[in-house]
Amino acid sequence: MSVPFFRPSIGENEVQAAIEVLRSGWLTTGRKCQEFERNFAEFLGGGVEAIAVNSATAGLHLAAEACGIGPGDEVLVPTLTFTASAAVFQHLGAEPVLVDVDPVTLTIDLADAARRLTPRCKAIVPVHFGGWPCDLDAIGAFAREHGLKVIEDAAHALPAHRHGRLIGAWDTDACVFSFYANKTITTGEGGMLVTRNPEIARRARIMRTHGLDRDAFDRFSRVGASWSYDIVAPGFKYNLTDLAAAIGVEQLRRAHEFQQGRQAVAEYYLQSLAGLPIDLPPLAPGNGLHSWHLFPIRVHADARRSRDELIGRFGDAGIGVSVHYRPLHQMSFWRARPGAAGEFPNADRYFEGAMTLPLFPAMTRDEADQVISLLHDELG
Ligand SMILES: *Cc1c(COP(=O)(O)O)cnc(C)c1O
Repeated sequence: MSVPFFRPSIGENEVQAAIEVLRSGWLTTGRKCQEFERNFAEFLGGGVEAIAVNSATAGLHLAAEACGIGPGDEVLVPTLTFTASAAVFQHLGAEPVLVDVDPVTLTIDLADAARRLTPRCKAIVPVHFGGWPCDLDAIGAFAREHGLKVIEDAAHALPAHRHGRLIGAWDTDACVFSFYANKTITTGEGGMLVTRNPEIARRARIMRTHGLDRDAFDRFSRVGASWSYDIVAPGFKYNLTDLAAAIGVEQLRRAHEFQQGRQAVAEYYLQSLAGLPIDLPPLAPGNGLHSWHLFPIRVHADARRSRDELIGRFGDAGIGVSVHYRPLHQMSFWRARPGAAGEFPNADRYFEGAMTLPLFPAMTRDEADQVISLLHDELG
């Protein structure tokens, strides 16, 4: 029997919500997006404003643009992340400066960030790797000390918290979530930019839709609205459709239920895999919440099987596994950039043995047992 790496949990409510939009006569950004944004802001608390976008990449691009990142600027980005965390800054003419990660939490290492800091640095990008909530107190203090904006890549972190304060509700400049097909909630493709800064929100809303001073829904739905609009900037096309937003509204209602499903599997993995020659992912600190988007392990160099051999065995057994991530400084494009200079010993050591086990809310005990048995058979 095969085990997929991920299986989305799409219920009848999501299906019905999508059908209603299809029959409604309004498919693109409209009432459903407004509802999704309102619900999302309420879900996080902390007085944030939420701006729905068609991907987290789009949200990061808008956040960076609204933060005024531009040519000549540098931005501190962990090397252990998806390329989008860095690419959006490159698009704006800035230079991502890659930073090593902490060997245990696999999140940005502030001591290494301090070593790579120059007077040109304008922002730091914490990535809540796998759903482990970064230490935003320490990152905030570092940012204030050095005059940096904080733009969180929270693609993995819905929901995650530290002492009850959800990622997304912290006092950073912007925080971006992903609703890509295999993320913790999904709209197929989609994302959410949240911020407590009204200026960033205003700019992001304008740039989200072509640099228009008002959106299409506003123009077509209000009494007295007209054909007239102005263009105030060369904007992007990053708005979310109502079709996607309707699915998002239903998925968001289940975000905590999904997290509990993943956490149950993660706890079972942690308990069942102890003692094998692998590093297991850390728990959230204190009374925090780990979203458990990913379950990354590191196979020790002296284990009976190498990581690559092990991935081969999982493939033979029909069990989906993945690797998050080959560090950016090992990728052709980024390796050739000045921001990839220097050494990244922690990310390199992790990557050599890295693999990500299947983990999703509706994963059965039998599916988890297949993963666990294979690891015991091969490494025990
Ligand atoms: C998925 C992901 C993104 C990009 O999300 P999209 O919604 O696909 O644009 C960015 N950063 C990280 C860490 C991700 O995992």
